[in-house]
Amino acid sequence: MRGYGIKAINVPGWVEKEKPAAGPLDAVLRPVLISPCTSDLHSMHGGAGPKEKDRIMGHEAVGEIVEVGALVREFKVGETVAVPCTTPDWLAPGVQGRFNAHDRSPLGSFKFLSQKDGVMAEFFHVNQADANLARIPEGVAPEAALMTVDMMSTGFYGAENADIAYGDTVAVIGIGPVGLMTVAGAELRGAGRIIVIGTRPNCVKAAREYGATDVVSYKNGDLADQVLDLTGGRGADSVIIAGGGAETFGKAVRMCKAMGTISNVNYFDAADTLGMPAPAWGLGMADKTIRGGFCPGGRSRIEKLLDVIKYGRCDPARLITHVFEGFEKIEDATRLMEEKPADLIKPMVRIRW
Ligand code: NAD
Ligand code: ZN
Repeated sequence: MRGYGIKAINVPGWVEKEKPAAGPLDAVLRPVLISPCTSDLHSMHGGAGPKEKDRIMGHEAVGEIVEVGALVREFKVGETVAVPCTTPDWLAPGVQGRFNAHDRSPLGSFKFLSQKDGVMAEFFHVNQADANLARIPEGVAPEAALMTVDMMSTGFYGAENADIAYGDTVAVIGIGPVGLMTVAGAELRGAGRIIVIGTRPNCVKAAREYGATDVVSYKNGDLADQVLDLTGGRGADSVIIAGGGAETFGKAVRMCKAMGTISNVNYFDAADTLGMPAPAWGLGMADKTIRGGFCPGGRSRIEKLLDVIKYGRCDPARLITHVFEGFEKIEDATRLMEEKPADLIKPMVRIRW
């Protein structure tokens, strides 16, 4: 089968692979809709990505089941389902606590791209299908379902980890698709003021629609200073990092109030050191909580996010700005994600319908 992958660091391209087979608990699907993610590109450029040659990219898909293992009870061949980007091994001790993204190693539940071929292929494999596929409820468009599997799950997780109380002031750094879902998640969690940090007009417009009340741009000076000014010098109750380089970390700590929470979902480079100026942390004594988390996966989480859409609380399909038709267009969509033209939020490829 063919797939679009990483031929070598910095070299994306089409590759030939064996069609995957389903183990007893697993399924094989063919993609219906896929979307490239910023993390595919981080990996392609040599981030904490796969070491195997010709690894197929992609981890955001709605797919049609073409094969199920003998022990799969819940899903049948022919069904179209949402595929969580994080597919834990539910038998591992690492998923038996509060988190499910780190089954046998840090981020170990992220299988596509990182440990096996991803979804930008004619066929792809899903481990433990009963626990790792999500049924799309009536009334939810497949395009919206596609946006739950990583963007909404990750963005909402940024908000979940931020300890938002009703009326809190929340700052969101970076308003690409993940940051925009963080804004939507913060609003659903009851934030009062939501200050977003971003400049691209299309993203700023979407951020306002998802609930942002204030917009801060690097064009108007230091980002942390601006958030401190807006909050009378106190800082935001919670700061969520959903974009930017290593320097954003210290800024996030600085714009967060004492006793506040910094929640990161951004993918920093492997070569980064995250520096923090001691005064921003009250010389080490400001009781600021710092969390960084990876997108949780699994069936129940994604089905709950699908219900958030079904009952009209959030429409993540608003993120999709560019639609491509046909399997061959995976290449163009991925290149577009890399080039990030000003009007892009998320590209989607419709492979079959
Ligand atoms: P994106 O690149 O589309 O969006 C990031 C945004 O941040 C861009 O709009 C960019 O202009 C902006 N930005 C860059 N530097 C900034 C700065 N200094 N201050 C403010 N904004 C700045 O990416 P995305 O798809 O929205 O994803 C965001 C990050 O989350 C990426 O690093 C991605 O790899 C990562 N990610 C993490 C997970 C996870 O589970 N933790 C899952 C998916 C994506
Ligand atoms: Zn991703």
